[in-house]
Amino acid sequence: MTFKTSLVWFRRDLRAFDHAALHHALCQSQAVHCVFVYDTAILDALPRRDRRVDFIHASVAELAAELRALGGDLIVLHAEAAEAIPRLAAELQVDAVFANHDYEPQAIARDATVATALTHDARLWFSFKDQVIFEKDEVLTLSQKPYTVYTPYKNAWLKKMRAEPGCLAPFDVAPHAARLAPPRAGAPAALPSLGELGFEPSNLAELAIPTGMSGASALFEDFLPRAARYDVARDFPALKGPSYLSMHLRFGTVSLRYLVRTIVDLMDRGGGGDGAPVWLAELIWRDFYAMILYQNPHVEGGAFKPAYDAIAWETGPEADAAFAAWCEGRTGYPLVDAAMAQLNQTGYMHNRLRMVTACFLIKDLGIDWRRGEAYFALHLNDFDLASNNGGWQWASSSGCDAQPYFRIFNPVTQSEKFDAGGRFIRRYLPQLKALGDKEIHAPWLVPRMLLEQKNIVLGRDYPEPLVQHDEARKETLERYAVVKVLA
Ligand SMILES: Cc1cc2nc3c(=O)[nH]c(=O)nc-3n(C[C@H](O)[C@H](O)[C@H](O)COP(=O)(O)OP(=O)(O)OC[C@H]3O[C@@H](n4cnc5c(N)ncnc54)[C@H](O)[C@@H]3O)c2cc1C
Repeated sequence: MTFKTSLVWFRRDLRAFDHAALHHALCQSQAVHCVFVYDTAILDALPRRDRRVDFIHASVAELAAELRALGGDLIVLHAEAAEAIPRLAAELQVDAVFANHDYEPQAIARDATVATALTHDARLWFSFKDQVIFEKDEVLTLSQKPYTVYTPYKNAWLKKMRAEPGCLAPFDVAPHAARLAPPRAGAPAALPSLGELGFEPSNLAELAIPTGMSGASALFEDFLPRAARYDVARDFPALKGPSYLSMHLRFGTVSLRYLVRTIVDLMDRGGGGDGAPVWLAELIWRDFYAMILYQNPHVEGGAFKPAYDAIAWETGPEADAAFAAWCEGRTGYPLVDAAMAQLNQTGYMHNRLRMVTACFLIKDLGIDWRRGEAYFALHLNDFDLASNNGGWQWASSSGCDAQPYFRIFNPVTQSEKFDAGGRFIRRYLPQLKALGDKEIHAPWLVPRMLLEQKNIVLGRDYPEPLVQHDEARKETLERYAVVKVLA
């Protein structure tokens, strides 16, 4: 055994199975302590009701129970992690601290601070790849450069996954669990309550969003029989098409290796229809964006393609009012407003609608994509810097493999195509329920008499459209002309 005592620091990997850092710590140490820190450097900036904090709280409780069932324990702190981890390491007199890689610039800086403090105390810091299948420079072009285009990246990713099947192998925990350090004498039996952390309950429980390892496993079981139809069903927000696993992938209550292994096994056995490969491709998008952020940290706050930073966005009181209307779902475009209501009420937004609402903000309202990105970051349950930034830069055409700037979604056509019967719109905008399937996508085109018969008055029950799409489209093409000049 290399180490007498070690510490595993859980962050966005809240599970007690197939866990790279925990596995390596257990294999190399006589006794392994585990810790989770409610990091005040992150939590202090959040509103006092936050579904993600609720989710973490429930998932940490399940993790602690699972570690106890395995004979170990979870130390739970509420402090600034960059200071608390070296302090705890000293208190426990561990030889080394183990964690899994995080690719976000602020997390990289925090981990560097921790590693330096540990080294100063003659302790070691180890971190491992865990939240992606391939990271950093593991998938490179033939000229040994990071990819900037998704499809060739995906092809190289698939080739490497097939060539190195070990990349999907689980990092076992249970067989080594005897080396988990038992609860310390005098350790508090109860975990901190939400109130003690300074938070009030959100509506997470009301929404019945499943939490923890058990929640992730239930969602995946529910999704697997639907995977074969994913390619078709995923585009229609009124259908139960996607897996709803993004929050679990964000907080690591599920193992990505397990998901990929299961879906690849299914495909190799001739199952999964046309849907399974498409779902796998989405997981590869996640790896792709994590790699893009790691290789190009300037995307946090700046365009991937710097020429796009020259675009002059709308600013001032009118733009602020338009932004507020977008945030609150008052644009007068039903699909956009229903999507924003879904986000505001549940913290989830369907992928198709993320694309539609992002495009609307940028290309119909002319507002800087970073404002929308920040709003999503605050409200999305699954907020992930890399994927959120990738999605927004795709929509603003400034990203690595983005929608061309002249491709501008028509919010009405998108609505007619992807919510043809208006089922999704009616779910979130009950005031439009009475409108027919054809009328519901653009209420301002419905004759006033007909609206009145249905007891709908535009401006009273539902807003007039904030902009005319055709005019906004022309303005956007002019706004983006600067890119053509610079490119
Ligand atoms: C503007 C915009 C912002 C986004 N912000 C986020 C974000 O903050 N966090 C986030 O996880 N995803 C984000 N996405 C990607 C995608 O919308 C969500 O991952 C997906 O809707 C989550 O639902 P699901 O778990 O049911 O997905 P499924 O359709 O079941 O897909 C399975 C998993 O694949 C991954 N995935 C799917 N699509 C993408 C994608 N386009 N990019 C990267 N990974 C993907 C996710 O981890 C997802 O859970 C964003 C997309 C856009 C257009």
